[in-house]
Amino acid sequence: MSKAKILIVEDNLMNLELVSDVLEAHGYEVLQADTGRKALEIAGREQPELVLMDIQLPEMDGLEVTRLLKEDERTSHISVIALTAHAMRGDEERAREAGCSGYIAKPINTREFAGVIADFLAESRGDPGGKVEE
Ligand code: MN
Repeated sequence: MSKAKILIVEDNLMNLELVSDVLEAHGYEVLQADTGRKALEIAGREQPELVLMDIQLPEMDGLEVTRLLKEDERTSHISVIALTAHAMRGDEERAREAGCSGYIAKPINTREFAGVIADFLAESRGDPGGKVEE
């Protein structure tokens, strides 16, 4: 599978670097945004294949950013995966309602993270990822 361009939206700079490092170590091209407004601008311009969206962001939260991405014809096709530190009942449902196609709880498991992302990418490409199901 070709290595995707992934936009990471995260206002915690330590988390932003951690997630970036893990994905870059697996050959992904990483773009970064620490606010929703920057995320919208970068997504429109750079056309990443996937956006990893922190839900807790200052000003505009990640759910609102996701809704705006999904409303804009330049970015509506981009898959968005929610990242949240407060895994509470209803969070995943709210993320899906906003347009997220997946959900990952923080802190991330650095050993499994790249595999989880590869699975999401395969799914969004409509690729079974080599898994054979009878
Ligand atoms: Mn945050």
